[in-house]
Amino acid sequence: MAVPSNSTKTFKLNNGLSIPAVGLGTWQSTDEEAYNAVIAALKAGYRHIDTAYCYGNEEPIGKAIKDSGVARKDIFITTKLWGTDHTRTEEGLDRSLKLLGLDYVDLFLMHWPVPMNPNGNHDKFPTLPDGKRDILFDWNFVDTYREMQKLVASGKTKAIGVSNFSITNLKKLLADPEITIKPVVNQVEIHGYLPQQRLLEYAKENDIVLEAYSPLGSTGAPLLKDELVQDLAKKNGISESTLLISWAVWRGIVVLPKSVTPSRIADNLKIIELCEEDGKKLNELASIRGEKRLVSPPWDPIVVFNDED
Ligand code: NDP
Repeated sequence: MAVPSNSTKTFKLNNGLSIPAVGLGTWQSTDEEAYNAVIAALKAGYRHIDTAYCYGNEEPIGKAIKDSGVARKDIFITTKLWGTDHTRTEEGLDRSLKLLGLDYVDLFLMHWPVPMNPNGNHDKFPTLPDGKRDILFDWNFVDTYREMQKLVASGKTKAIGVSNFSITNLKKLLADPEITIKPVVNQVEIHGYLPQQRLLEYAKENDIVLEAYSPLGSTGAPLLKDELVQDLAKKNGISESTLLISWAVWRGIVVLPKSVTPSRIADNLKIIELCEEDGKKLNELASIRGEKRLVSPPWDPIVVFNDED
């Protein structure tokens, strides 16, 4: 398959590998949607797919990758370790590889810094009798990450990283003397109403690339209806989604728009070089509208975001 030139923008990771700046998000896609979306994305020129064990769609995604005819080595594939697998990281990765039908992934992320009971009443969302999440308190994300480091040597993943990490949690991780492999990325919610500027500065200082999830505001893409976004898109003669995705890349952030609609999938890859003035205007959007998270974590946010961030 020929690759359109707009899909070739990459960022360098701290392990020397390159990551395509725009990747296809696949959360909340059924098996059929995920399969068709990956086929459409690879055809449009994407070479970066983001999935997770928790999304339940690794199998159709793996099948689409095979059926696409695009060489495995040319595609950057990320999957994620779910909370109930924090104490058994290799098993978690092996399960994902089996579902994907692959020998390795390019990037394996700790999905959330929250270990959950592996033997609880549900395989993904175990709860206690009082209804609260069944979280492990005698294990922490540093323990998990120490174990994840061994997976790089196994060859089952080319890189490891984290997701949903605040500055405080990144500092805690990097301060541990047994952490010898820095996370290559931190995948977090980033969009116009949550620009995460301080986290971005901290990540850059520490040679960690940020990845933006929910870059359009998640389900229903609410950011596309914002008046400033619409005005700037019009001014540049591009769609609102192109503007927002280009803004992320302009900031040096990998961006993961999700769509199951082929025309949108193709449109979302058409990034432009944003001018300084428009980039700065978008940087200010959250201070005009009020900063807000649009994706709620599947547990009390205090467990994850209870710090300076
Ligand atoms: P997005 O911000 O990517 O928005 C997805 C929504 O936008 C869907 O409703 C989609 O509709 C719509 N959409 C996409 N493109 C367009 C377009 N060009 N015009 C109009 N509407 C559009 O949300 P997500 O929350 O899915 O985030 C993206 C990805 O980030 C996820 O899929 C996942 O891979 C990752 N993620 C990671 C998390 C983590 O904890 N690490 C948490 C959340 C997301 P439709 O599909 O119907 O076309």
